[in-house]
This record gives sequence, structure tokens and C-alpha cells, in this order.
Amino acid sequence: MSVGRIVDGVATTEDDLIGGKECPKCAVSIRRRARFCPHCKYRYPEDVYAAEQEAFAKLEAEMKRQESEARRA
Ligand SMILES: [Zn+2]
Repeated sequence: MSVGRIVDGVATTEDDLIGGKECPKCAVSIRRRARFCPHCKYRYPEDVYAAEQEAFAKLEAEMKRQESEARRA
């Protein structure tokens, strides 16, 4: 199980990652911090949820880094 695979599973674009994620079961857009899907009631397993939040945090940090680099250029 890799974090990259999980990220691929929940979102298809960078915009999706910023604004939210996709339910792996019904593909509806849900909040990034959601532990379960309000649409189909899919519940993220605790380890999947933790890995996902970690991946989002890493992505956010990377985006902030790129943003500050772009400002410097
Ligand atoms: Zn769902």
C-alpha cells in the first residue's frame, strides 16, 4: 500500500486535492478531511484515512514551497 496510490484513488487533479477528494466507492466529491462519505456512507479505514491526510499535508507543504519559489523568481 503506497500513499501515492491512495492519492490517485481519491482525486484526479491537483484542484481536487486542494478542494476535496473523491469517494473511492461512489466517486462523489467530499471534503478532504471527511472520514466517511455523506452520500454512500462509505467509511475510510483508519490507516487509509491517516495515510491520506499525511499525503494531503505533504502536498500542501510542497505547493507552499513552489509558491514561495515562484514569488522569488
Ligand atoms: Zn461515497
